[in-house]
Amino acid sequence: MIQISPVVFAEPALQIEALCDYIDRAEAVAIGANLGIRFAHYNLVAPAAALTPTPACFNARMEMIRGLYDKQCARIRELKRCVRERNIELCPYCGKVEAPIEIDHIAPKSEWAEYSIYTGNLVAVCSECNLTKRDNYRDPATAARLFLNPYVDSFMSGEFVHVVISADPLYGFDVPDFEFVPSVMLPPADYNRVSTHFKRLEVASRYARFGVNRLKLLKLSWSGKARADLLGDLVRQNTNEGKVYGDNCWACLLYRSILGNNNLIDYILR
Ligand SMILES: [Zn+2]
Repeated sequence: MIQISPVVFAEPALQIEALCDYIDRAEAVAIGANLGIRFAHYNLVAPAAALTPTPACFNARMEMIRGLYDKQCARIRELKRCVRERNIELCPYCGKVEAPIEIDHIAPKSEWAEYSIYTGNLVAVCSECNLTKRDNYRDPATAARLFLNPYVDSFMSGEFVHVVISADPLYGFDVPDFEFVPSVMLPPADYNRVSTHFKRLEVASRYARFGVNRLKLLKLSWSGKARADLLGDLVRQNTNEGKVYGDNCWACLLYRSILGNNNLIDYILR
């Protein structure tokens, strides 16, 4: 999990230019400014029913903007490239380490057409998260946001996942169990959002999958070797990956859990 730094994007000018290719410049600038104001609002709180009906622009324009996202023109390609480059290392929704190439509309364009090319609404994620989240954004009953927003949810980098690796008599220690344990210090709305994010994206089972593979690799590399060397390597990897991906990334959670588990260390060295 990672928070992508603040809502200061380098691409609004590009977004305005893309709009200018299809509408009058003054109107494009006005739409851009209006979206910025509205987006800042919906990031703070889920849009209340009373606040949503006023579109940032006319319906015909909203359709035009939605269509723009799929246009194969140079400006839109450039805009998408900029979005992908913000988090080149990993998926901010689940923490999977790979350069995410799919782009999610945080507020889906089916419902929020005017945000289709608004860069504050675009985030590069892994294909699994994109496929799982789809057009979901908020709870239809309560309007509460269901997913973390990597641009504005500053608590994303906090530690709210614990990893528990228990002994399995049949398979040794091959099944790390990532437990979702959000801090009770989180305000209720944030607590609920973390909960629904983890549950809906099935983050815990994905972490378990990543963890199993990492444990297999560790066993392959360290079986029969010196304990002190393994411990030193785990501490080093924890520090290094923490610097790049944050101390709360799944790999660091795994390393710290191994370091506190002598039986597991024995298992890796056997
Ligand atoms: Zn993901």
